[in-house]
Amino acid sequence: MLAVILEANDPHEKEIITYFRRFENLTVYLQEICHRQTKKKVIFLSGEIDKEQIKKCSSVAKILPISSNYPLLSRLGDHSSNFGFSYKGVDFYQDSLQIFAGLNAVDNEKNVRKVMSLMQSLGLNCTRMGAFKPRTSPHSFQGEEEKCLQYVFSAAKDYEIKVIAMEITSEKQLEMIVSKLQLYNDPPGVMLQVGTRNAQNFELLKALGQQKDFPVLFKRGYGITLEESLNAAEYLAAYGNNKIIFCLRGVKSLFAAEHRNMVDFAQISMLKRLTRLPVCIDPSHAVGTLAGDLDDIPDIFNVCAQGIITGANMLLLDVHPEPLSSPVDDGQILNFEQFSLLLKDINFCRNSYVKRKGIVGAKKNIFAQEEIYS
Ligand code: PEP
Ligand code: MN
Repeated sequence: MLAVILEANDPHEKEIITYFRRFENLTVYLQEICHRQTKKKVIFLSGEIDKEQIKKCSSVAKILPISSNYPLLSRLGDHSSNFGFSYKGVDFYQDSLQIFAGLNAVDNEKNVRKVMSLMQSLGLNCTRMGAFKPRTSPHSFQGEEEKCLQYVFSAAKDYEIKVIAMEITSEKQLEMIVSKLQLYNDPPGVMLQVGTRNAQNFELLKALGQQKDFPVLFKRGYGITLEESLNAAEYLAAYGNNKIIFCLRGVKSLFAAEHRNMVDFAQISMLKRLTRLPVCIDPSHAVGTLAGDLDDIPDIFNVCAQGIITGANMLLLDVHPEPLSSPVDDGQILNFEQFSLLLKDINFCRNSYVKRKGIVGAKKNIFAQEEIYS
């Protein structure tokens, strides 16, 4: 694969794409690659082409060979940590942190409002609200589905929530979300969550790739390799959407018990090194219990700390006013008091991460770092 980086604001972009599309053996992908301050248009070319034929385009700034197995997500040899995107005025970069705490499963309007009001009072402007729940058993609660969308979006407006993470399992659900958002002049943002069970639902990934209105929170598959999950995330980019966040939520393993999954947050820095994607952690689904250690610190707090102190960019967390009344996953959900305490711990860990960058990162010359940024 070759990456052809275009000059900034090139007026001939369309002609250049048309030029490359003429080559029969070539697959052409156009990506907009965002840094915090700059945007670059990059054309990825898969197939046979002579570099001389590329140079015929006057506005090519640089040509790079890309060896990554997920080239559209790759870093293009760039070491910087400000890849990402901004959505509804909220920053999602490899050096920022956003907190999405809220209802794993929306149960009623009162609880939606209580959660959003808490977020607002804590100075947070994002939340999670599960309307469509993929469940192991068809007899389990499937979510409030379409009927909750309007009261969720209206509450978001009232409590100044800018982005809601919401899982969808089909294109039909996306249409429902779009049609409800049309009722607002300035609708709240929705981050579409691809759940672990759908990590390799390629038709869903293609559909979410084709639309560019909503960013996608892609959860790693729980029973497939990281490489396979990254290839699945590559589908989103291949179909045109590069507002993607990669979420670690643990993997299924017999070795994990008593945790629900084997916590995988050690992979945060590796994912950032291998891709341009901001990385999210979901301690609730990774750990699945509120049990604690001998210092009375719950495991969820401890793994959350591990993720934040190593630079996680987003946190997805289950919070409910009365966790035991939640229709799903009640054993892992924090109540308001517990979440407010966790937030203090999160701030402490984030500050520690920033300090660690100053202490360890400043000594980068003592580590061999050549060519590790794919
Ligand atoms: C969820 O976040 O509500 C969820 C179902 O998570 P996962 O897909 O990671 O199991
Ligand atoms: Mn769940």
